[in-house]
Amino acid sequence: MRVTVLGSGTSHGVPSIGCDCEVCRSTDPKDHRTRPSILIDVTPGPKAAAFRRDGFAAGVRSILVDTSTDLRSQALSNDVRRIDAILFTHSHADHIFGIDDVRRYNQMQQSPIPCYADADTLASLKRMFAYVFEPPKQRGGGVPQLAIFRIAGPFTLGGVEIVPVPLFHGELPVLGFRIGAFAYLTDCNRIPDESWPLLDGVRTVILDALRHRPHSTHFSVAEAVDVSRRLGAERTYFTHICHDLGHARTNAQLPPGVELAYDGLVLEIDA
Ligand SMILES: [Zn+2]
Ligand SMILES: [Zn+2]
Ligand SMILES: [Zn+2]
Repeated sequence: MRVTVLGSGTSHGVPSIGCDCEVCRSTDPKDHRTRPSILIDVTPGPKAAAFRRDGFAAGVRSILVDTSTDLRSQALSNDVRRIDAILFTHSHADHIFGIDDVRRYNQMQQSPIPCYADADTLASLKRMFAYVFEPPKQRGGGVPQLAIFRIAGPFTLGGVEIVPVPLFHGELPVLGFRIGAFAYLTDCNRIPDESWPLLDGVRTVILDALRHRPHSTHFSVAEAVDVSRRLGAERTYFTHICHDLGHARTNAQLPPGVELAYDGLVLEIDA
């Protein structure tokens, strides 16, 4: 399985509009962060053939997590040719406002894209993107073709099991996702007791760490380092990073096995 970090930045992106701070003016490409998203390429497991082709799940190779505001530029810079399924963590703007760019994948693949989210996120998507889900008033540029599925527990795509991991983002319940020994835990500042067992044995984690100062809905760097220790992960990469954290300088201060993710980072993960 291969995970590509499409975007490692917080909702404003880095550089932040109109900011002259050291990180926003940095020439290190790793200090340029688009809005948070990852792409998971799964190598079909031995179970894949056993799954009856139900239209979607069996042939899944390429899973996008969230349709960030920067989806188009992320797809171009990482040459993303296919999206077989989309998982949504929650419905904040930075995670969903690229949804219209899914149209291009509909064109190329000649099919709707299955989207998976919890009930609250699905309700928000339908409200915020009424033009996608309501019958069109006229034919024109087209709308994204999405087939929506409610997440109610673990499910299988392309022969791999996707385990939703309930997290808290302030008061808001959101989902992280675990696939094999990998977990993606963005937009959170608390892992509830019942979710820890779901993360038992993870070896590679991408985890929210906004900045050093505490925040009401995101882990700080110190909090995220503690979470990483408790998880016992071999490799932890921080994401949803704001302009307070310079890439090189922050990495030099982090403990072994913990580092900042960056846009374009590719992780090869053993299943
Ligand atoms: Zn976010
Ligand atoms: Zn700045
Ligand atoms: Zn959020």
